[in-house]
Amino acid sequence: MNTKSLYESFKTKFDVVGIIKTSNYLSTAKKLNITVPNVEYPTIVVVGLSYPKRIINHTKTHLAPSFYTFGMDYHKVITTRIDAVMKNLPYEYLIGVDNHPHNERLAARVAKIGYFGKNQLIINKELGTYMFLGLVFINEKINDEYILNITDDCGECRKCIEACPTNALFDGDYDINKCISYYNQAKKDLNNQELKANYSLFGCDICQLVCPKNINIDNKTHSEFELSGKELVSIVDLFTLSNKDFKEKYNNMAYLWKGKTILMRNALAILYRQNNKLYNDLIKDSIKKHPMSWYKDTATKVLKKLEN
Ligand code: SF4
Ligand code: SF4
Repeated sequence: MNTKSLYESFKTKFDVVGIIKTSNYLSTAKKLNITVPNVEYPTIVVVGLSYPKRIINHTKTHLAPSFYTFGMDYHKVITTRIDAVMKNLPYEYLIGVDNHPHNERLAARVAKIGYFGKNQLIINKELGTYMFLGLVFINEKINDEYILNITDDCGECRKCIEACPTNALFDGDYDINKCISYYNQAKKDLNNQELKANYSLFGCDICQLVCPKNINIDNKTHSEFELSGKELVSIVDLFTLSNKDFKEKYNNMAYLWKGKTILMRNALAILYRQNNKLYNDLIKDSIKKHPMSWYKDTATKVLKKLEN
């Protein structure tokens, strides 16, 4: 397979493209002691699509998730764009966007789409960290790899480490369990510390917002990521709509992929931070009706704090 023409095809749909041999990805994983599943297909295309920084604040009635969820669900956007490229090529392929066991950031490092920052994200020269990643595994060998050229790194900067509210970042390391973006997407009861720290309906933007590599960058807004009006989520909707009705109303939003209960649980943490007692009756009702014990445990704790 001709790497240059493959690169040009993907470049029509993505901001950044790297093409690597799967053997290079697997051997780098081994060298760095990172466990990844074996991949049968010999070629990996790593794609990056930019998204813009847009800040929307919570109100007393509506809550905001991390801004990477704004616009259409990026899982669908990236998959659709990859399919559009691959439909013109005669190769078998598999797509990985987020919900797969492979390591996108490692593949992006190998393809040198960006360097691996102290905030644990890939930092691209033009797009900073505001970039969705996707992988395409292709069942065809390439003649050459298409690897970008990076000379940048974090240097002495430690802004993300200092700004992280839960001390999840250290020099050259990371405690994923302390990361808000990790635990506020997990199906679990939040402990008191986690409750106090969680400020977002979904995800966490702090280590990206403070990063100097995200200043003066050229982030375009692709048409799919234009604001849709569904960025702010109504608290009443969260506690009163059925899962099905909620999904219909907020369809195509990236925060939906983990389910509504996670958003309800995160909303509890924000209501607690706001000392917002307006929804106590709805919380009480949800404790009676909700089937998940981890949700009920957090809700019971928050309700008790709000009632006191
Ligand atoms: S996403 Fe938030 S909690 Fe996680 S490392 Fe970054 S600043 Fe810390
Ligand atoms: S804030 Fe500084 S240390 Fe953290 S990722 Fe950005 S450049 Fe690197």
